Amino acid sequence: MDLKDLMYRADLMAGQKILITGGGTGLGRVMAEAALLLGAQVVIAGRRIATLEATAAELEAAHGGCVIPLACDIRDPDSIEAMLDGAWQGRAPTGLINNAAGNFISRTEDLSPKGFDAVANIVFRGSFLTTLACGKRWLAAGDRASVVSIVTTWVWNGSPFVVPSAMSKAGVAAMTQSLSVEWGGRGIRFNAIAPGPFPTEGMTARLKPGEGSDAYADMSANPIGRVGRMPELANLAVYLLHPGSEYVNGQVIAIDGGDFQATGGNFSGLRSWTDDQWREARTSIRKTDAKQNSATPDN
Ligand code: NAP
Repeated sequence: MDLKDLMYRADLMAGQKILITGGGTGLGRVMAEAALLLGAQVVIAGRRIATLEATAAELEAAHGGCVIPLACDIRDPDSIEAMLDGAWQGRAPTGLINNAAGNFISRTEDLSPKGFDAVANIVFRGSFLTTLACGKRWLAAGDRASVVSIVTTWVWNGSPFVVPSAMSKAGVAAMTQSLSVEWGGRGIRFNAIAPGPFPTEGMTARLKPGEGSDAYADMSANPIGRVGRMPELANLAVYLLHPGSEYVNGQVIAIDGGDFQATGGNFSGLRSWTDDQWREARTSIRKTDAKQNSATPDN
């Protein structure tokens, strides 16, 4: 990404410090890069420290500035506190992006309790625990901060075949609305972004398994006729993080080209899948998990 891809002047985020969960990959990395380019200090947190360190080194080499990689599993409150001790070094963050998530497609009747927990413990519980731990520190110090959570458009209409994610993201949207009122008057505001399709490796492997680069070949049902461009998402995130948008509080904003209005923006198209297609999907998702040594369980 280049500064000219963004809508803002070069020093817009100078003096800001932004903490991004899942900032080593995908959309989190994109938002980290944008904040860095605009002069913010950036902290990226996730489970795979080698990935975070590589991202931090690449972004600093490309743009200068400071990206701090910190290991953290947001399912574990102690791990969150240890990560926040690092993130608060020097000065407190001025913004948090709850971006970390897990998800995979499955027929709901094929899910085990472990499969439900694999998603809900990251998205529903982990986003809350991270927000709570940051909030306590900000409130105790009287700091001002902006929290942006990355949800999905299925917070409005649900989605078949990703039910643990649909339930969890709806919970994060409810947290956004609830805390915008409870903590808004104490300097901490809350908004959420609901992206449409922004192809990332993580998302494609578990939500469109086996499709690779064909996954988004036909975007004709989307009113804008294409997938999202990463700088478009970054522009919205920066807007919500910057104090200039302080009067925006408690909102969930879609950035999907109108996909949700046109198509429902969810996985209802998978109703026609055969048993064989579900078997293939499951095999492909397990291969991805084995490769990444990640936490998606036998569903
Ligand atoms: P991604 O690259 O797979 O990002 C997920 C990130 O979350 C990874 O960096 C991962 O790092 C981190 N993570 C997962 N579990 C974690 C845990 N327990 N503790 C800490 N970090 C954890 O996928 P993405 O597409 O960029 O998704 C980013 C966000 O956008 C997600 O909230 C997703 O639901 C949302 N979203 C994406 C799209 C899209 O089109 N891409 C559309 C709608 C919404 P580690 O594995 O190293 O922990």
